[in-house]
Amino acid sequence: MSAWKRIAKRAVVHTIARTAPLTWGWRKPGSLIVLMYHRVLPKDSPERQFEQPGMYVSPETLDLHLSELKRRFELVQLDEWLRRAQVGLPLPRLACAITFDDGWRDNFDFALPVLRRHAAPATIFLVSSYIGTTQRFWPNRLIELARSAFADPGSLAFPQTLAALVNPVLAQARERKALRIEDLDSLVQQAKGFGEDEIRRLIDATAPSGRSSSEYREILDEAQIADMAQSGLIRFGSHTMTHLRLGGAVSPEALEREIGGSRSRLRELCGQEIGLFCYPNGDTSAAAIECVRRHYLGAVTTRAGWHARGGDAMRIPRIGVHEDVSATRASFLTRLSGWL
Ligand SMILES: [Zn+2]
Repeated sequence: MSAWKRIAKRAVVHTIARTAPLTWGWRKPGSLIVLMYHRVLPKDSPERQFEQPGMYVSPETLDLHLSELKRRFELVQLDEWLRRAQVGLPLPRLACAITFDDGWRDNFDFALPVLRRHAAPATIFLVSSYIGTTQRFWPNRLIELARSAFADPGSLAFPQTLAALVNPVLAQARERKALRIEDLDSLVQQAKGFGEDEIRRLIDATAPSGRSSSEYREILDEAQIADMAQSGLIRFGSHTMTHLRLGGAVSPEALEREIGGSRSRLRELCGQEIGLFCYPNGDTSAAAIECVRRHYLGAVTTRAGWHARGGDAMRIPRIGVHEDVSATRASFLTRLSGWL
């Protein structure tokens, strides 16, 4: 971006940040904004090199967000807000609910201290079969494989269909003499074109699954979940059993296992009622929504927007927040207004 464009963009962001929050007061009373976070990683975290930019904020950024939110919204537990809405109890004029997807260990290490400092409630959506394991999500594994293949050409043999995606990215990066995180981000987006089982199989065929058990665990374990539950600030919801994307052709048995099965497992493990569900990658189908309705009070998507009493509780929109669009007060407020 040229210097002039950057200056113009900054001016627009500042203008929106000043004016848009004024219009929030005109929203229907009982409006709710739900924020979607994933990971909280400090600036010097080595994990950042295997992560898509849309996946994290720094602890300082989360701190800034909570300070801003508390001035403008009542921070609520999403399940409590939904229960009140359903039975017609009074709701705050403007409420905000904070959510974290996937159940990352960094939520315990870096988000919990900030949430405690602000006494801010939040929901964490757990992938029930991943808890306490060294299991890794396939996008991180794919990024890691592409980085190894770039650093050491010829060291990995990607199956043909995967090579067709990876090789052009690597060839471009070699020409540029740098493998940029934006290239890896778009590689992950393209790989989502494969079905869930297929992409996992292709990655397993390239390198044996993930890190060994002696290595770093990226996912929360039972003790951390118990500590968080005890804080009184954190509630847990389900993000399926295996992070299976639920759009398209998923058998009724798999839907029941991923949606209903994960709820029973989490209820046991977390010692709390599990009222909320989160669709992996935001992918839904009519059958998945029906199954979710049988088991849960409400469910969140990745569709951007606000929610209000009377809205569809099985498809609650959220605003995704991450470092590169919300590290300053002005950009955060602009993001909440749907302009960034
Ligand atoms: Zn997820």
